[in-house]
Amino acid sequence: MATLATAAKGIARRAGKLVFSAVDPFLGDFPGPRILIYHQIGAGLGRQMEVTERAFADQIAWLGERYRVVDLPTALAGRGDPDANRWVVLTFDDGYADLYQRGFPVLQRHGMPFTLYLTTHPVESGEPLTPGGAADPLGWDQVEAMAGSGLMTLGAHTHRHPDLRTIGATQIEDELGTCDELIERRMGIRPAHFTYPWGYWSAPAHAAVARRYSSATVGSGPPVTAATDLLTVNRIPVQLADGLMFFKRKLRTGLRMEDRLRRRIANYDGP
Ligand SMILES: [Zn+2]
Repeated sequence: MATLATAAKGIARRAGKLVFSAVDPFLGDFPGPRILIYHQIGAGLGRQMEVTERAFADQIAWLGERYRVVDLPTALAGRGDPDANRWVVLTFDDGYADLYQRGFPVLQRHGMPFTLYLTTHPVESGEPLTPGGAADPLGWDQVEAMAGSGLMTLGAHTHRHPDLRTIGATQIEDELGTCDELIERRMGIRPAHFTYPWGYWSAPAHAAVARRYSSATVGSGPPVTAATDLLTVNRIPVQLADGLMFFKRKLRTGLRMEDRLRRRIANYDGP
């Protein structure tokens, strides 16, 4: 039954994507670099925040033919460039072992730069990010191996991944500080880039984020242009239901209607 329900949900999602992608071209140009969010690769958990191993390989190969995959600092510095709509940034959130096992070999083969936004408690403790979750975190040795390739930009993503809208200033400072210190102690670098847990910007966290990082990304919002504030840069989530077909459409138009709906459902009105 569960499998049937999951299959039905998948069909409904793809039907929605068909409608959204038909409306998207009427929203006007989609300028700027496409900053993509990946979470897990080939985890087999059936969650929208993962992609299959096959879809990932197809998506990366297609990007290699059609787009220029650049690192995050390059895309941010050149975000107003007229050709920036041909640039793609690959970002991976949280730090799952499957990035190293299944994603990294593909990225290496294509020589593509990527950003890992790391949540430090799972990697430090070996415990999954979500209690009872079946997703193993990366180990520091794996993070180090990826950093050694020269392809990876390592960013911060808090210590325990709380929604920063729901905790106080002291706790926010502790979340950011612990993450930065662990990355510095283990990897010898101070992270310059940050992404908000769950993609939700938080007014109380903004000042602390601005003090510590040169950029911060969120998970929903308008295209990235010369006018974009570097502390609220939007990214585009890649989902299980995207496959290759909707992935291509997402790259072309952003699937912005879907994005707007997602914001509404999550009751999120931030930048
Ligand atoms: Zn996250």
